[in-house]
Amino acid sequence: MNPLITADVTERLRQHVAGRVIAPDETDYETLRTTPAGAPDARPAVIVRARSTADVVQAVAAARESGLELAVRSGGHSGAGHSTTDGGILLDLGEMKELEVDLERRTARVQPGLTAGEYNEAVGRHGLATGFGDTGSVGIGGITVGGGMGLLTRRYGLTIDSLLAAEVVTADGTVLEADTDHHEDLFWAVRGGGGNVGVVTRLTFRLHPVDEVLGGMLVLPATAEVIEGFVRLATAAPDELSTIANLMPCPPLPFVPAEVHGRPVLMAQLVHTGPLEAARRTLESFRSLAEPYADLVRPMRYPDIFQGEEAGPMPEVVSRGGFARRIGAQEASALAEAVATPGSARIVQIRVLGGAAARVDAAETAFAHRDQPMMLMLVAFCDGPEDRARQERWLEEASGMLDGAAYVNFLGREGPERVRAAYPGATWDRLVEAKRRYDPGNLFRLNQNVPPTG
Ligand SMILES: Cc1cc2nc3c(=O)[nH]c(=O)nc-3n(C[C@H](O)[C@H](O)[C@H](O)COP(=O)(O)OP(=O)(O)OC[C@H]3O[C@@H](n4cnc5c(N)ncnc54)[C@H](O)[C@@H]3O)c2cc1C
Repeated sequence: MNPLITADVTERLRQHVAGRVIAPDETDYETLRTTPAGAPDARPAVIVRARSTADVVQAVAAARESGLELAVRSGGHSGAGHSTTDGGILLDLGEMKELEVDLERRTARVQPGLTAGEYNEAVGRHGLATGFGDTGSVGIGGITVGGGMGLLTRRYGLTIDSLLAAEVVTADGTVLEADTDHHEDLFWAVRGGGGNVGVVTRLTFRLHPVDEVLGGMLVLPATAEVIEGFVRLATAAPDELSTIANLMPCPPLPFVPAEVHGRPVLMAQLVHTGPLEAARRTLESFRSLAEPYADLVRPMRYPDIFQGEEAGPMPEVVSRGGFARRIGAQEASALAEAVATPGSARIVQIRVLGGAAARVDAAETAFAHRDQPMMLMLVAFCDGPEDRARQERWLEEASGMLDGAAYVNFLGREGPERVRAAYPGATWDRLVEAKRRYDPGNLFRLNQNVPPTG
């Protein structure tokens, strides 16, 4: 990092930015410079805590003109460590939390610094919701530009399927309002392109009438029969039901009997948005798969589904995410065995997709995996280098269940081939075209990068 360039950039930012400009020796630098999943030693040359779109324009100009790397952070949950930069400019949108609700039109216009939990808590006061993921602390900025899969996906589609418009600062500093009638190619690329075409500074979402839901956690024994049955029921269930199931050794949860702790369990989050009686009937079939170890499914306000958990330091893990075509008896049996292996802490997450997300044409957004029936995330905790090698062998084997396609929000630092796998066929070509138009110099490269050269 050239100290003359960075001093100059910092000075210029101080003159033009309304939000805070934080240099390495200043208050809050240490807490803001990285995130649990970011490189622990990363030291940005300067941090800009933007307050407005105009601040974002200034930070983008500073990066473009200085050549310094630009990190764009909304909620800071990038699993690939893209929420910070070593020696570059960290543009932190975490203070941009304005939200306006239009009850008549049932829309919300928001800045990207809100978390999914904060957003749904606010719109939930009106009995409305937009679907993001399963974790309240994830930023709406990052999850939206990748697609957004969660507990309303089968009912209302991905997050991007509820996105009506986006204000975007492109690489040359232009502020564009994009929707299906204006800068359509930009709007298409924002919806799943992973932040490759610009910084999104405002998002307009459709709000759905989601007030009380039947939802919560169900903990079942993770036998092969239960796993297979769960996937079968979740796939056949009405669109009102979305599920996310984690297979793992049972953590020491106070609401699960102590003798179950450490045993392999299927711990599912379920949300049913339909009428209570129908929801109860659907949920009954899941309960009858096996005697539940714990059953916290109850009528609740939708925002209460988020537990407000805070990410701590990340333990050493190896992981692989992707789509799976089926989980039949054979796959279920392999998964049950994987999480029951003594001395191995492994988590397998299964998200059954379909429903409204599958009814959107694959060409409509930059997220094209509309026909994929489910997502799988395979995670193994490593206890030293020897164990790491063992867990990597398991990942390699278990990855046989994945079909090779990737979801950009669940990618780590896995190389260009895996980014390519997130954008099949014509989607890649169209994204490259949008990149050439809106970011020909690849200013926005600290992401799952789609280079303008293709
Ligand atoms: C605990 C946890 C749970 C998760 N659960 C889910 C889930 O249920 N469903 C799901 O779909 N995903 C989930 N994810 C993945 C998550 O969607 C991505 O990691 C997402 O990128 C996080 O967004 P963020 O704003 O918090 O992260 P950040 O680190 O701030 O941003 C990540 C990347 O997104 C881009 N970006 C962020 N903000 C903007 C913006 N305003 N404009 C343009 N580009 C931007 C940048 O490239 C940035 O590097 C989860 C991740 C974690 C860590």
